[in-house]
Amino acid sequence: MDDPRRALEHVLQALDNVAARAERPAARLLAVSKTKPAEAIRALAAAGQRAFGENYVREALAKQAALADLALEWHLIGHLQTNKAREAAGHFDWVQSVDRLRLVDALARHRPAALPPLQVLVQVNVDDEAGKSGCAPAEVDGLAAAIVAAPTLRLRGLMAITEPFPDLARRRDSFRRLRALFEALRATHPQVDTLSMGMSEDFELAAEEGATMVRVGSALFGARTP
Ligand SMILES: *Cc1c(COP(=O)(O)O)cnc(C)c1O
Repeated sequence: MDDPRRALEHVLQALDNVAARAERPAARLLAVSKTKPAEAIRALAAAGQRAFGENYVREALAKQAALADLALEWHLIGHLQTNKAREAAGHFDWVQSVDRLRLVDALARHRPAALPPLQVLVQVNVDDEAGKSGCAPAEVDGLAAAIVAAPTLRLRGLMAITEPFPDLARRRDSFRRLRALFEALRATHPQVDTLSMGMSEDFELAAEEGATMVRVGSALFGARTP
């Protein structure tokens, strides 16, 4: 997108429209800036966007250093290796890709006591895709209990990357199953308030189905060239 400010306005307007129809607050926008330079983030921040998502710890750290003069909120959304947990715990506000107990333990141990608790989402592999990150739906409760027990972590909800079915009815079904998991989690843990689902292709559909946060990259920053 040549004009990130217009792209941002367009996405925010779409989220407002869904919210008005559904009579709910608008979903929060996470701008996914992986592979994009720090200057692109700065341009979007100047237009009012505050929360940014990155997939790789090293790439994010370089951009954070270049943008240290801005008060931004950083979310890690990519698969996190346990041996990178220390760096992630020290440099992000949120980690959305928590999908196993060893990672919960490592993040809890390495979150510096001087920082506020790390905001954590449990990533669910809701479409049971082989080889994909995310825990099985049946594992959510155990992970949530471990996160709640850690004083340096705060459980905020669920994240999922749904399968990009060409058939929109099937996508909607994935979002509905996530919403049901989210409501079940919230019944046990009332502090849970975040359901992160939907990307550039389907964020409006996700918001219709109850996403409280959508993660949008290419619709804001333009296509990623590998
Ligand atoms: C890249 C990415 C996104 C954004 O994808 P777009 O299709 O560019 O909007 C969202 N979530 C995760 C986990 C990603 O890796």
